[in-house]
Amino acid sequence: MPAVSPSLWDLDVPDHVPLIRQPLPRYDVAVIGAGYSGLAAALFLARLGRSVLVLEAETVGFGCSSRNGGMVGPSFHKLGMAGLTRAYGPEAAQALMGAGMQALDAFERFVADEGLECDFRLTGRFRGARTETDLRGMLAECARLRDQVGLPFEPVDAAGARAQIGSDAYVGGVIYPRDGGLHPKKLVNALAQRAEAAGVEIRSHCPVAGLRPEAGGHLLRTAQGEVRADEVVIATNGYSDRRLPTMNDRVVPIWVTVAATRAMAPERIREMSPGLRMHGETGRVFLWSRPSPCGTRFIFGGRMADRTASPERQRRQVAAKVARIFPALGPEAFEHLWYGKIAYTADHAPHLNRIEGMWHLGGYCGSGVTRSIFFAQALARKIAGGGGGELPFDRLEFPRVPFRPLAPQVARLLTRWYAGLDARDLRRKRG
Ligand SMILES: Cc1cc2nc3c(=O)[nH]c(=O)nc-3n(C[C@H](O)[C@H](O)[C@H](O)COP(=O)(O)OP(=O)(O)OC[C@H]3O[C@@H](n4cnc5c(N)ncnc54)[C@H](O)[C@@H]3O)c2cc1C
Repeated sequence: MPAVSPSLWDLDVPDHVPLIRQPLPRYDVAVIGAGYSGLAAALFLARLGRSVLVLEAETVGFGCSSRNGGMVGPSFHKLGMAGLTRAYGPEAAQALMGAGMQALDAFERFVADEGLECDFRLTGRFRGARTETDLRGMLAECARLRDQVGLPFEPVDAAGARAQIGSDAYVGGVIYPRDGGLHPKKLVNALAQRAEAAGVEIRSHCPVAGLRPEAGGHLLRTAQGEVRADEVVIATNGYSDRRLPTMNDRVVPIWVTVAATRAMAPERIREMSPGLRMHGETGRVFLWSRPSPCGTRFIFGGRMADRTASPERQRRQVAAKVARIFPALGPEAFEHLWYGKIAYTADHAPHLNRIEGMWHLGGYCGSGVTRSIFFAQALARKIAGGGGGELPFDRLEFPRVPFRPLAPQVARLLTRWYAGLDARDLRRKRG
């Protein structure tokens, strides 16, 4: 079996090469991290008249932003309406969930107004329920979201589920017509181009090794020398490390596998996804899948494989997980396999907070395509002053992760435990 190839998104889409610009002695804003968050923040700030430098440790979009599933939706808070109401009260819950719909509206407008070429299509998404209990819970949550924040959805039974995805894995589910898909790397490259056109300077291969406050601003130590800026935005998300401890202490990086099949006949893809939609499912440890934007491959994501195992073993691990939905796809079906690190937070919420005089933007818990850009716009308005940058999330402190050094290990153990509970639920369903 040939070795697996890297990310499908890298095929025919080269890395963005930043323009060479004359460095300034001091910038209004230095942004650390060139993913969606950092680049969108830089773009919006530049358009508000600020001089902005983006510092990226690797290549533009090296983190999640060039590796993700490209699925677009309202990305609701992980606690759900009921959980949020218990935690923060009904008004705050409605505002936090409502921000999901606002982020989606803003994202659609942004892509259209900018004419961003990123294969964005409003295909809709089908989320399958693995058990009757899951289905009841999902329908109840959808009804709450429809009533309180206007989420449109369409429930389907088992036969309806079969018409959405070529699998008998689901007892029913829900179609979300407002969701869609895009090509993540094309989006990050388009953002970098727009930011540069607005005057932003981007430096790739320029990790920030540390920073400290100094009169009226900050001094950043980078691989290419010292930089001075009035404001600092840390947008390093799941790729944060101890060089930037205020962010690193607040996010847990979790590796997620993505696998894409070999090219298949369009009819085969249509058998798997008759409406060429995005797909998700219930469960504590779940898989998502979608056709590629070109419609010739199927892409799967989730906590599927061990990235330190041999390529053959990784492929077998992926096929074993996917078999629950598509048993006909063996290990040889998977040609591309790659990984990215999402950033989980202690309160399951994304954040935009000022801590120790620096802006921290991120912690999207695996759903950041729309939210990163929505939050970045709010951040730019906050920094520029003049209002309009308020978010319901402003009320949430960005909590430190308890026992942070142990957190990735705990997350791995929890994933195994949750996968065991999911397997038990499925056995009960069959029994
Ligand atoms: C496998 C996978 C699938 C996903 N699928 C989806 C999806 O379908 N839909 C969705 O909404 N979300 C999805 N997400 C989440 C989404 O991709 C992220 O929320 C989003 O890309 C975050 O963007 P960001 O700019 O905040 O962070 P990133 O894109 O991760 O960028 C952070 C950058 O910071 C840089 N950096 C780190 N440290 C330093 C330093 N010291 N100096 C300079 N630079 C530094 C890194 O190199 C990196 O490029 C997925 C994530 C993964 C990993």
